[in-house]
Amino acid sequence: MSKYKSVNTAIINELKSIVGEKYVWTDPDKLEPYSHDEVMESKYKKTPEVVVLPRTAEEISKIVKLANQELIPVVPRGAGTGLACGAVAFYGGIILSTERMNQILEIDEQNLIMVTEPGVRTVEVQKAANDKGLFYAGDPCSGDSSFIGGNIATNAGGNKAVKYGTTRQQVAGIEIVTPEGDIVTLGGKLKKDSTGYCLTQLIAGSEGTLGIITKAYLKLSPLPKHEMHLLAIFPSAESAINIVPKIMHSGIIPTCVEFMDNKSVRCCEEFLEEKLPRSESGHYIIITIDGDNETVLEDQCVLIDELCTTNGGYEVLVADPNKIWKARKSFAEADRARSLILSAEDIVVPPSKITDIIKKIDDISKKYDVRIHCAAHAADGNVHAEILKENMDIEQWNKLLPLIQHEIYQYVYSLGGKLSGEHGIGYKRLDLMEEFANPVELKMMKAIKRALDPNNIMNPGKIVKV
Ligand SMILES: Cc1cc2nc3c(=O)[nH]c(=O)nc-3n(C[C@H](O)[C@H](O)[C@H](O)COP(=O)(O)OP(=O)(O)OC[C@H]3O[C@@H](n4cnc5c(N)ncnc54)[C@H](O)[C@@H]3O)c2cc1C
Repeated sequence: MSKYKSVNTAIINELKSIVGEKYVWTDPDKLEPYSHDEVMESKYKKTPEVVVLPRTAEEISKIVKLANQELIPVVPRGAGTGLACGAVAFYGGIILSTERMNQILEIDEQNLIMVTEPGVRTVEVQKAANDKGLFYAGDPCSGDSSFIGGNIATNAGGNKAVKYGTTRQQVAGIEIVTPEGDIVTLGGKLKKDSTGYCLTQLIAGSEGTLGIITKAYLKLSPLPKHEMHLLAIFPSAESAINIVPKIMHSGIIPTCVEFMDNKSVRCCEEFLEEKLPRSESGHYIIITIDGDNETVLEDQCVLIDELCTTNGGYEVLVADPNKIWKARKSFAEADRARSLILSAEDIVVPPSKITDIIKKIDDISKKYDVRIHCAAHAADGNVHAEILKENMDIEQWNKLLPLIQHEIYQYVYSLGGKLSGEHGIGYKRLDLMEEFANPVELKMMKAIKRALDPNNIMNPGKIVKV
């Protein structure tokens, strides 16, 4: 990695001539917010040499060509809500922020496609679709802040993935600036496309290592007329999680089935200073269903109620969506308030193995006497296990965490699972990736990276070590 050059005055001047003086920042106060994402440990922070805020793909192309010529890393950045340290410039160089590229360019109602720039917030994409009676199905919990470019780059999941899929499934095409500085459109407004390799889907989820997304073609659908939210409360994590396959096999296709263990429920309650139902002992399953026929949805609610109450549930409540989603969405923040240093794992297993992994995490938590809070996109098999440092001595934490992770991921891989369901590998999981990913798969990924980015200037040190 030492091959990279520093950003000198001549390069700063070149950057200013490309994007304008106002949009090249070197002042330490302005650089600080770009020194980290949502991972707060000091070892995951690094102040960039410069932050550049281009407005167009053409400007980005010139910056990337300059970076190749001078051997300087370029790190694309959206809103910085990532949880894998993907948007941090660990090897120096340029943070390329997409925040000025924030326009919705077109809503094509005939083809059901929205064309946006990468710096549009997810919530604005959703709202713009809704205003036309249409629906954009990407919905990460961070959607109020995250950018659509960041969502595509991480293949963000979230709260509607059970029925509608992750961000990948919402993307019909993208325009990117390649690691060598070319501008290319991959996919577009087509409904189908078997014209060679699907490069759109290769870039989606590549965390800024294979190119910078400068435009997105997003799939829209008619807005479902009704949405209903249920909160089913169970006396144990096991009984709560056991209901998930029963719901999934009942013939209903829910929009989401979320799980919060009791420790998370209580932590969120404390954080929000709001009483949550049966928080003393309740483990939560939150179910959302949507559709056009209200009667059908009401029948589905009755069926879910019956399933939950005959399978040990305390009760099933029709939930106020604002209240229950406020609680669910505060999970990460509430844990952070309790323990500034924590490790947010993003385990994914086959949905049928979700009970096994939740039980194993509980065993590991007891074995190492470490607090682990679990919330899960349960029907996706995606468990967010937050391992909290709390008052533990930092040396003890640095020793213990790798042991805990090793034990968790050995089990996860034995179940057919993987390291990340939606947050990505970034910098944070690089060593785990080397340890656990299939060696042939890893070799293929490295070959792709080397082929597309021969100078390794595009977000180096993320996903794979090359
Ligand atoms: C409270 C909270 C809740 C969250 N909930 C969810 C959730 O439900 N589901 C989920 O999947 N994630 C969730 N996340 C994680 C995070 O919000 C997502 O990963 C999101 O997609 C990141 O978007 P961003 O714009 O903040 O990207 P950033 O953090 O800025 O960047 C993330 C990665 O994408 C790359 N990147 C960003 N923009 C571009 C671009 N235009 N071109 C190429 N590469 C780019 C960066 O280099 C980096 O590797 C949550 C985070 C928080 C803090």
